Amino acid sequence: MKILVTGGAGFIGSAVVRHLLKNTQDNVINVDALTYAGNTESIPDELQGGRYTFEQVDICDAAEMKRVFETHQPDAVMHLAAESHVDRSIDGPGAFIQTNVVGTYTLLDAAREYWQNLTKERKAQFLFHHISTDEVYGDLPHPDELPSGSELPLFTEDTPYAPSSPYSASKASSDHLVRSWQRTYGLPTVITNCSNNYGPYHFPEKLVPHIILNALAGKPLPVYGDGSQIRDWLFVEDHARALCLVVKSGRVGETFNIGGHNEKRNLDVVRTICALLDELAPEQRAADISAYADLITFVKDRPGHDARYAIDATLIQKELGWSPEEDFVSGMRKTVQWYLSNESWWQRVLTGKYKLGRLGEGE
Ligand code: NAD
Repeated sequence: MKILVTGGAGFIGSAVVRHLLKNTQDNVINVDALTYAGNTESIPDELQGGRYTFEQVDICDAAEMKRVFETHQPDAVMHLAAESHVDRSIDGPGAFIQTNVVGTYTLLDAAREYWQNLTKERKAQFLFHHISTDEVYGDLPHPDELPSGSELPLFTEDTPYAPSSPYSASKASSDHLVRSWQRTYGLPTVITNCSNNYGPYHFPEKLVPHIILNALAGKPLPVYGDGSQIRDWLFVEDHARALCLVVKSGRVGETFNIGGHNEKRNLDVVRTICALLDELAPEQRAADISAYADLITFVKDRPGHDARYAIDATLIQKELGWSPEEDFVSGMRKTVQWYLSNESWWQRVLTGKYKLGRLGEGE
C-alpha cells in the first residue's frame, strides 16, 4: 500500500511512520508543515529508505495538497496533522481552528477530488482514516464525586460530543466534517478516538516528558490543581499498532475508541515517573533532595480542566483483535529509559537546534 500520513513528524505520526517502515512493506508519504511540534529527527535515518518520502506541506494549502495526491497516488490517508496542545489552544485558539478545522476541510476536499477520479477498483479500496481524541466527548464524573461503589461510566463510540477546550472543540469539528464528507460525497472514511498517549519522541511541553526532563534538571514538577484529574494512558507504540490495523482492516463508516484501560490520577502519573527515576537515574538526582518526588509543586488549575477521561475499547478489541501490549508501569519504564538514553534528541529540541536540520548538523 501507499499510505499518505499527515503530521508524520509529530509524536504519534512519527510512531505510525516508524511502525509502517519497520513492520510492513508499505510506502509512506509523510506530509508535515514542520510547525514547532514537527521534528524530522523522530524518523531515524536508517528507516528513511526508498519506501519513505517527505513533503513539507501545510494541509491548509489546497493547491499543494492537490499536487501531493496527484504525484504520489496514495491508497489511503492517515490524518494526524493537528495543533494538539490544550494549553496553547487556551492562549491562542486561532491556529487550532485553522489547522484542525480549515486544514481538515482542505485535506478532505483534496482527497475527495482525487478519490472521485480513481478507477472503480482503486476507488473501492481507498480509505481516509481520521485520527482524533477522546477529548471530543468532554469529561466523565470523577469517582470522588460519586457515591462509593457506583459503577464508573466509560466513553463509548456512541457517547455524545461535548468538548470543553478550544482544542477538543476543533477536533470535534474535524470529526463532524469527516463524517459529513462520507455521508454527502461518499468518501470512504473511518475515525478513531484515542485517550492520552505517552512514550518516546514526545515533545517536552507535554506532561510526561516535561516531568521527566524537569526532574533530571532538578526543577519543580508542576501539577495542576490537586492533581486529581484522571486520564486513561496508552503507550504510543500500542496506539500506532492499532491505527495501522484500522487503516488496513477497518470498515468504511466505522468509529473505534482506542484506550489502554489505564486510568490514573495526574498526581499518580508524576509519582510513578519520580519512582522510576529514583530507580533508573539516582545519580542524576539533585543533591538537596532525597527523592525526585520532593520536586512536586502544585500550581493553579487549567481553566475548564476536564475531571476524568476513560475509554471503552471493547469494539476494536473484538472486531480487530487489538489490545495494548504495555501496561502503565511497563510502558512508563520504557519511556523514562528512552529519555535517559536519548539525550541528544531532547537536548536538540530544548535548544531549538532540531529546527536547523538532522542530528549532527546545525551544531
Ligand atoms: P503533535 O503536536 O506531536 O504533532 C502534530 C504534527 O502535525 C506535527 O508534526 C506538526 O508539524 C504537524 N502539523 C501541524 N499543523 C500542520 C499543518 N497545518 N499542516 C501540516 N502539518 C501540520 O501531535 P500528536 O500528539 O502526535 O497528535 C497527532 C494526532 O493525534 C492529533 O490529531 C491529535 O489530536 C491526536 N491525538 C493525540 C493524542 C495525544 O495524547 N497526543 C491522543 C489522542 C489523539
